[in-house]
Amino acid sequence: MNSPVRAFNAVGGTPRFIRSASGAWLTDVDGNEYVDLICSWGPMLLGHAHPEVQARVAEAIARGTSYGAPTEPEVELAEEIAARAPVERVRFVSSGTEATMSAIRLARGFTGRDVVVKFAGCYHGHVDALLASAGSGLATFAVPGTPGVPASSTELTLVLPYNDRAAVERVFAEYADRIACLITEAAPGNMGVVPPEAGFNRFLAETCARHGALFVSDEVMTGFRASRQGQWGLDGAVEGWRPDLMTFGKVMGGGFPAAAFGGRADVMSRLAPEGPVYQAGTLSGNPIATTAGLATLRLATDEVYAHLDRAADTIKVAASDALTRAGVAHVVQSTGTMFSIFFTPGVDGRVRDFDDASTTDSAAYAAFFHAMLDAGVYLPPSAYEAWFLSAAHDDRAVSTVLDALPGAARAAAAA
Ligand code: PMP
Repeated sequence: MNSPVRAFNAVGGTPRFIRSASGAWLTDVDGNEYVDLICSWGPMLLGHAHPEVQARVAEAIARGTSYGAPTEPEVELAEEIAARAPVERVRFVSSGTEATMSAIRLARGFTGRDVVVKFAGCYHGHVDALLASAGSGLATFAVPGTPGVPASSTELTLVLPYNDRAAVERVFAEYADRIACLITEAAPGNMGVVPPEAGFNRFLAETCARHGALFVSDEVMTGFRASRQGQWGLDGAVEGWRPDLMTFGKVMGGGFPAAAFGGRADVMSRLAPEGPVYQAGTLSGNPIATTAGLATLRLATDEVYAHLDRAADTIKVAASDALTRAGVAHVVQSTGTMFSIFFTPGVDGRVRDFDDASTTDSAAYAAFFHAMLDAGVYLPPSAYEAWFLSAAHDDRAVSTVLDALPGAARAAAAA
């Protein structure tokens, strides 16, 4: 098992080993088929093995798989990203982890400051400084969230409750001239979907600007998924502000290892070789990965997002109905086309932050998950994840999900 949540550790049971995938469907090594509601944890926006993406990739592979020199697809992919997101320059890396790690290094190099602010429940990859849990008090420095990370790696990280303006104001009042950046998921999806309250991201951008810190918006999950322009398309584009730096991954790699960070030209120009902040990668901007990402983004039209919206609505409503009928307390939350279902009554019917999300009934979710799996629907094997759909989730796939829901809801009620 090469990444923990795949191991079904949160839901129990034996993970399915997948042999192939096509459209909305996964086939395991025993020949069982499942409607895929993970979509590789986000990337497969168009569905699996999209014929046009496959064709572009096959052509690219025929030209060789990596050159260690600049190529056209990486320039075109950077242009495609900059056409959707407010970034003046883009640097490619191979994973979301590298993107956030590099973005905070750049923010520290640019500002000459060391402190990083993040929110509890936001995941930014397995970067030492960001695998941090809140310390004993609110405005105190963090402790490592895992063995293997030295205390010295998180002692410059402040962890705050999400959606809490007062907490943000307090740390900026206390540490303002030491804060290099605040990093946040543009809309958290790694504690289940917890949308920013109206104006929260703008407030963060303005607070950072007022104190000379950079606002880093992590759109690895939401980018080109929550909407055509990611989460920024739902708030910043409407309200008229932009992050200083952004990170991307998942959809923009079309199912290959590709990710990116980008933003203000004056900040990005501090990167090597133009500037002094070092950052590099043997496979960065790999021609196969950038070709797949480019083909994916070019095919991700307004119709794709409209389809995702409709399919998400159908599944959300049916899941909520089934759970209500079975008497299972739950909260449905979404941002754009992304959604998740929390198995908790929430706090005042909502989940605003990680503490609220932590009231989830994991046993009820595990029972629900396994009943869905037995009925041919592959949900995320964790109660704290978004459910991902694709353009290939057609009526047959959606009705397989709808048929499975009532029985799974009863299983959750009995757990
Ligand atoms: N940031 C966010 C918001 C993510 O969701 C993830 C991955 N789930 C990452 C960063 C890390 O990306 P990767 O797994 O590609 O390192």
